[in-house]
Amino acid sequence: MARISGGEIAAKQLKIEGIEVAFNLPGDPMGAITQGMAKEGIRMINFRHEQGNALAAQAYGYALRRPALAIAASGPAMTNAITGLATAWANTWPMLLIGGNGTMALRHRGDFQEMPQVEAAAPFCKWSVAIDDPRQAAYYVNAAIRKMMNGRPLPVYLDMPADVLDARVEEEEVRYFPAVGAPVRPAAAQEDVRAAIRQITQAKRPLLLIGKGLAWSDAAEETRQLAERLNIPFIPSPMGKGVIPDDHRLNASAARSYALQNADLVILAGARFNWIFHFGQAPRFAKDVKVVQLDIEANEIGNGVPANVGLVGDGKVVLKQMLDEVGRRTASRESDWLLSLEAEKKKNADAVAPMINSQDSPMNHYQMYREIVPMLDRDATICADGENTMAISRTMVPNFLPRHRMDAGESGCMGVAVPYGVGAQVANPGKQVVVFGGDYAFGWNGFEAETAVRCKLPVVFVVANNVSVGGPQARELGGGGVNVGGQPEGIRYDRIMEAFGGHAEHVETVQQLRPAMERALASGKASLLNVVISTGRARKEQQFNWMSNRANRMHY
Ligand code: ADP
Repeated sequence: MARISGGEIAAKQLKIEGIEVAFNLPGDPMGAITQGMAKEGIRMINFRHEQGNALAAQAYGYALRRPALAIAASGPAMTNAITGLATAWANTWPMLLIGGNGTMALRHRGDFQEMPQVEAAAPFCKWSVAIDDPRQAAYYVNAAIRKMMNGRPLPVYLDMPADVLDARVEEEEVRYFPAVGAPVRPAAAQEDVRAAIRQITQAKRPLLLIGKGLAWSDAAEETRQLAERLNIPFIPSPMGKGVIPDDHRLNASAARSYALQNADLVILAGARFNWIFHFGQAPRFAKDVKVVQLDIEANEIGNGVPANVGLVGDGKVVLKQMLDEVGRRTASRESDWLLSLEAEKKKNADAVAPMINSQDSPMNHYQMYREIVPMLDRDATICADGENTMAISRTMVPNFLPRHRMDAGESGCMGVAVPYGVGAQVANPGKQVVVFGGDYAFGWNGFEAETAVRCKLPVVFVVANNVSVGGPQARELGGGGVNVGGQPEGIRYDRIMEAFGGHAEHVETVQQLRPAMERALASGKASLLNVVISTGRARKEQQFNWMSNRANRMHY
């Protein structure tokens, strides 16, 4: 029988697991595995920086609810990918990163690009291990995918030293494993489901907080049904947007602060009480708010905020259990709670109307979104980063489907949007993918726009160019109006895209924006719009600082 390398064995098992795409940056010592994957018909997409392919891989995996694979070569290539592991960890998204390493036989002797990669990856991974025998490569790939997809999804890291990748063994000594398949979906205890429905139906001002855990569990239909049957208003997290379409009547996002402060019971479902939901603390929430919490991770229940009822299980299954418990019971469509939310929504809409309807030039972010949003399809994927660009996109750019918004999330990682857009476009061929990013944010991974051009992925990158980090705040915070450290002023990002061979537009006035966006969408190519944005105040006055729980400290 034929002899086969460790890299080829890993590639064969990856194929068995249903991996169709590898997000890669070629380099030594990965030849055996990348050649093996190509032979197995796995599509290889090559990036320009390993942060880029690690981020793109996780976006692809999240979009399709499939295992994602990123490949990094040894040493600095792998350490470049660690930010990708860290964002997947912060998002609770699964991803398999396979890294090369120096020769195992020369460990600790300073081999080419030998680094302590298993240790470096470990804090961000469910499992971080080195494969030290090529015959075991299939086992490790199978075990890694099982671990990352089941329970709370998280990244895993497999380290493959150069001699393990290259060593050839008799294939008959190798055992391949059946594919892991779809993740197990555990149900919650029935008495907890009963207790949850009892508490929810007794609440006067219930509020459903929807996180991306529900998007990952494909629970859109069940979530909508539960909200409608019990007439519960909902607020999605930034990436929970679209689990129920943003234009649903029960969406209370436009009255977010009021809804959080006044709810007497919240159902925290597939989301955490981290900074995004203000740690569940007063003054953002009522001091005595009751909590019904749904999460696949038992350790998350009651984490930081005691839960009155904890529902441990898969979102889709547990919501179905809740619907069965509700039975045919429905709630009246009118309530003082819903009416007060409507009034608050109207007040907030009036407050931002002047910024949206402004005729100023250069335009503000609201004007930019006002012009572009009507051109977006309902199944468009939106990726966003850059402080103000991302924050304002959350309120101005609607989502209608789950897993169709990706942004910096809990990690707050700037630079995610460009590679997320590339990964999302690989997952959604033929559908719109639009990346909204600040000019500074574009700098981190902007070179992946070249990846999009080269791989014929027609992402539209919109660079909201207001010549700064975090808008004018950065200057104020940095030194009382002084431009501390300097800012990259007046960069024509469109010219970079032109050099890459994509479609490029420079947009100075609001009148130029729609035609430019139309041309970009019609071009069928990766495109970049360099949109000049006013350097004035970017957002409406906020009742709370975006990190108010940090600024005000916690209230226990
Ligand atoms: P968001 O950023 O949308 O607020 P978080 O990342 O804070 O969401 O939280 C997502 C939560 O979803 C995590 O606590 C994770 O354990 C949970 N989760 C992941 N998969 C599932 C699932 N299938 N069912 C229920 N909860 C899940």
